[in-house]
Amino acid sequence: MSQPKDFIYLSPPHMGGREQFYVQQAFNQNWVTTAGANVDGFEQELAAYLGAASAAALSSGTAAIHLALLALGVGPGDEVFCSTFTFVASANPIRYVGATPVFIDSEPTTWNLCPTALEEALLNRQQQGNLPKALLLVHLYGMPAQMKEILEITRHYRVPVIEDAAEALGSRYQGQLLGTFGEAGVFSFNGNKIITTSGGGALVSAKAELIQNTRWLSTQAKEPVPYYHHTTQGYNYRLSNICAGIGRGQLEVLEERVRQRRAVYENYLGLLAEVDELEWLPEPEGFFSNRWLSCFTVKKGCFVTSEELRLALLAANIEARPLWQPLHRQPLFKGSEVFGGAVSEDLFARGLCLPSGSSLTLEDQERVANVIKKAFSA
Ligand SMILES: *Cc1c(COP(=O)(O)O)cnc(C)c1O
Repeated sequence: MSQPKDFIYLSPPHMGGREQFYVQQAFNQNWVTTAGANVDGFEQELAAYLGAASAAALSSGTAAIHLALLALGVGPGDEVFCSTFTFVASANPIRYVGATPVFIDSEPTTWNLCPTALEEALLNRQQQGNLPKALLLVHLYGMPAQMKEILEITRHYRVPVIEDAAEALGSRYQGQLLGTFGEAGVFSFNGNKIITTSGGGALVSAKAELIQNTRWLSTQAKEPVPYYHHTTQGYNYRLSNICAGIGRGQLEVLEERVRQRRAVYENYLGLLAEVDELEWLPEPEGFFSNRWLSCFTVKKGCFVTSEELRLALLAANIEARPLWQPLHRQPLFKGSEVFGGAVSEDLFARGLCLPSGSSLTLEDQERVANVIKKAFSA
């Protein structure tokens, strides 16, 4: 890495202080691989925070999605409905298990899965006698999806929900933490997320048995006999005791990180109040976002584009990113079916994510805001 010293990153890791204590403990006990007190502790502490029955600590969020699909019995020939406006890791595991993703568009209020498009897709499949095996529902940038409407529909059609809450740890819908609404919830602790384990993920569920089985699958599915005996295809997906130690330290500061990211968002609103060409993502009543990333769209037909803003920021040593490119537009998923699509395509065309790290200083935010103000005053 050779970025200049004053470079402002999009979402860098932010240590809390106690991570090295837990990592040192792992060294002291010589439990430096995929079992130990940190893995157990991290799982218990995460489950306790969420009020979920149990959690499995895994090597990535992607692995958690893969094992969630297996837990729901998704396999070859099945369809899985999936938000189209998301990171590619939401949908890749659908193909790992031999199933086919069917993409569903966003709605403009939360940018997440559109209940109307979902209902249209389910009605379509019901008429064909071929309902999807699951819905992979994503809460982007920390903003909750419209859970009441979506769950009413999925309950009606009896389609289980996997929540991809990789970006939404600490976010709430009507007071309830995201990741705890579906059959299973997925979190990521990649380096850019609200808390990190350097790299890692978790699957959580109210069903303790599902999580028990997930742990087993994540450690090569060994049968309980002294020799190596296998009846099921397993995976090497367990989180290491070192990484889990980082995670324990990070969990201790999670609520503080949520407050800090929300403050970053509020600061941008204040600093950029005069630029009325920007449309921010507001929180509807009952929605509580961790504000993982502060994002906006530039008003339609504006004389400055989001890409011009991104380039102006980069020239000032500031990292900004476009919003996710919808998956139905990716060459990787060429030919996949999509219900709707125009809303997510429009968000991609006009949207930008600003540096949003919890360690971002007000001074840095002023630097970001000044570049944007200048672009609009030109
Ligand atoms: C980060 C992310 C993932 C994948 O998590 P990894 O830990 O990087 O595998 C999945 N879905 C979404 C929406 C993400 O942002």
